[in-house]
Amino acid sequence: MDFQLPEELRMMRETAARFTTRELIPHEALVIRREVERGFSDTPLLPPELEQQIMDKARAAGLVGLEVPESHGGLGLSILAKCVVVEQLKHSILFPFGFAPNFPDVFMLLENCRGDQIEKYLKPFLKGEAQSCIAITEPGAGSDVSGMQMRAVRKEGKWILNGSKIYITHARYADFMIVVTLTDPEKGTRGGMTTFLLDAKQPGISVPSAYPTVGDYQPYEIHFDNVVAEDHQVLGQVGQAFAPLQGRLGLRRMEIAATCVGLATRCLKMMIEQAKLRQTFGVPLADRQAVQWWIADSYRDIELTRLALYKLAWDLDHKNDVRRDASMVKVQATEMVGVVVDRAMQLFGGMGMTKALPLEYISRVVRIYRVVEGPSEVHRWVMARDLLKNGLPF
Ligand SMILES: Cc1cc2nc3c(=O)[nH]c(=O)nc-3n(C[C@H](O)[C@H](O)[C@H](O)COP(=O)(O)OP(=O)(O)OC[C@H]3O[C@@H](n4cnc5c(N)ncnc54)[C@H](O)[C@@H]3O)c2cc1C
Repeated sequence: MDFQLPEELRMMRETAARFTTRELIPHEALVIRREVERGFSDTPLLPPELEQQIMDKARAAGLVGLEVPESHGGLGLSILAKCVVVEQLKHSILFPFGFAPNFPDVFMLLENCRGDQIEKYLKPFLKGEAQSCIAITEPGAGSDVSGMQMRAVRKEGKWILNGSKIYITHARYADFMIVVTLTDPEKGTRGGMTTFLLDAKQPGISVPSAYPTVGDYQPYEIHFDNVVAEDHQVLGQVGQAFAPLQGRLGLRRMEIAATCVGLATRCLKMMIEQAKLRQTFGVPLADRQAVQWWIADSYRDIELTRLALYKLAWDLDHKNDVRRDASMVKVQATEMVGVVVDRAMQLFGGMGMTKALPLEYISRVVRIYRVVEGPSEVHRWVMARDLLKNGLPF
């Protein structure tokens, strides 16, 4: 057992940390201001030209396409490498989902795209030239997809799709959509759902409204009105909607957890600096036991989460079954960051409540992570079911 990151990953971590300090953190004030100014609109938080500049610099620094195979123009690195880099980039509040391509969809599409799908969707996606979105949730189907209403009906050798999706990230900017529908209501979740790849511009698809949220990105509603799909637009097998999506779940959970560890570490760094700088009643805050305990507890919370996170990334690299522990790490990381940022806000006093610092922004964006990609309660349920059925893993 070796708890040291390999030399190559330590270098990548340093590169990502430097990049975050030089290229991301200086734009945070702009993002915070634009978030206030945009109100209910879905104006991007970074001006597109600035986003492109940052992307170009990130690519030049070797921080884009880490997980994309070399045969597709990427760097072909491990999931642990991705984890370490995401964690460093997320010392900043920029880029809610990191750099394109959207990480969890990479492996899913690599494993499942076939025929025309490879040229049309997979290749542009892996180059970062086409954006995906994944549309599962509906007003009556979130944690429990058995309530899904959206139908794909077979007619004259084609599929006709009708229905609506809700809270779909990136939907308005997506070039193609990964859409789960009901194809056999009798079978429902047991063989009656199918995933389609649809062009976002296909006739009958509309994205009428964004939902402003507590966080930094706004998901959208999508309507499908007699959208025609061909057989070659089915991802995987008819009736097996979730087979292609299975591998995706652990990856996104790992990515969310790495994001939380990165943001929490940023908060802890700020706490340590401020505790040494700020004096009250003639002594620095660092001399107060309450403050020392916030710092010690935050270090403990972050470091223990990071260990479990790296183990999850390692398990993903080794293709181990991560269903139980991906849930554990997601719950741990998403709840941990909320506690750490709250301590940081308290330590900064009045300043911690203002938009002069990124803390209040962080405190809001991380709230979403306890719901998206499965609410904490559902993850606890997944863990408990596994433990009650299979016993302890140690
Ligand atoms: C910002 C944002 C972005 C999103 N992006 C996407 C996207 O890109 N694509 C997509 O398909 N969806 C997306 N979603 C939807 C998201 O995945 C769902 O909101 C989430 O799965 C929860 O479903 P729900 O909202 O229907 O809540 P429900 O399923 O109605 O659950 C409500 C609450 O009930 C509790 N609960 C539910 N089930 C259980 C249980 N078994 N045991 C105990 N408690 C339970 C939990 O506390 C849960 O929070 C997004 C949502 C948000 C807010």
